[in-house]
Amino acid sequence: MTSTPSRPDTEISIVVPMHNEEESIREFFGRLVPILNQLDLTWEIVCIDDGSTDRTWARLREGQSEHSSVQLIRLSRNFGKEIALTAGLDHASDSAIILIDADLQDPPELISEFVKHWRQGYQNVYGVRTDRSQDTLFKRYTAGWFYRVFNLVSINRIPPHGGDFRLLGPDVVDALRSCREKNRFMKGLYSWVGFPSVAVPYERPERLVGKSSFNLRRLWRLAMDGLVSHSTALLKIWTYIGIAAMFVAVGLGIWLLGEYLLVRRNPPGFYLTIMVVLGLSSLNFVMLGIVGEYIGRIYDEVKQRPLYIERNDDLAE
Ligand code: UDP
Ligand code: MG
Repeated sequence: MTSTPSRPDTEISIVVPMHNEEESIREFFGRLVPILNQLDLTWEIVCIDDGSTDRTWARLREGQSEHSSVQLIRLSRNFGKEIALTAGLDHASDSAIILIDADLQDPPELISEFVKHWRQGYQNVYGVRTDRSQDTLFKRYTAGWFYRVFNLVSINRIPPHGGDFRLLGPDVVDALRSCREKNRFMKGLYSWVGFPSVAVPYERPERLVGKSSFNLRRLWRLAMDGLVSHSTALLKIWTYIGIAAMFVAVGLGIWLLGEYLLVRRNPPGFYLTIMVVLGLSSLNFVMLGIVGEYIGRIYDEVKQRPLYIERNDDLAE
């Protein structure tokens, strides 16, 4: 890590994860800094070089020499965006934080609107993409399904098409810092910590230069991390599947018995086989679900999230 000590009077920190962004950095600073200067707040920019293999670091050094309030963090390899964001949250000052991508897909012009909401008391101000036409049809479709499934199985809902682009008030930052789980899905954590939240719709432009780091494999891994770390439904669902199978087996048994005793007919033997197989496997499913209940609880324990988080504002909602 290379950083200048964070200034205690910083009111807002801009946290930027970067992976192979050599081509965007100049223009990114060029657009961001004037906007920050208009804010009437003391600010810093915290850039995290997430194991880039191009000249990102050299470009960041240049940026740091041009702008005094730039803090740089360099990770030893590529740890992924979720971890890079966490490193940024850890190293930023005790201020409000804005998370923003380096590729200018998150328009810096929105920052002043974020700050406006923050001044009204909202601690979690997040951008929502109204138009995903820049994404491929496949990504839009799969993203839509992901949000549907996530919100079905997770206790805390995440707003569809909300990204990482957001302002987090100091209390939210504190709360996020206290979540140290290793399988991190930040979008889930922003909503888990709670606090008054408000959405700011925006149109997401195309990537300025370079290409997205998220290929299908990484997106799949991110989706699985999200589902598994915010829901134990997949572990517990088997109990209910088992109970359903048991009902079918019992129903079949009653019918077989009725045929045998009342109709005095011997039904074909495979009905009996189906009943026995279904009955025994339903027991297996129920047991698997019960084990899942325990594993889910162990998982919740080892995550060591705080039990509760307090808020200190007077907003009516
Ligand atoms: N990023 C990162 N580490 C990674 C992948 C991405 O820090 O392993 C950064 C990247 O430099 C950019 C942001 O995360 O600032 C969003 O990445 P990208 O544009 O590739 O994602 P997309 O916009 O396609 O979701
Ligand atoms: Mg991008």
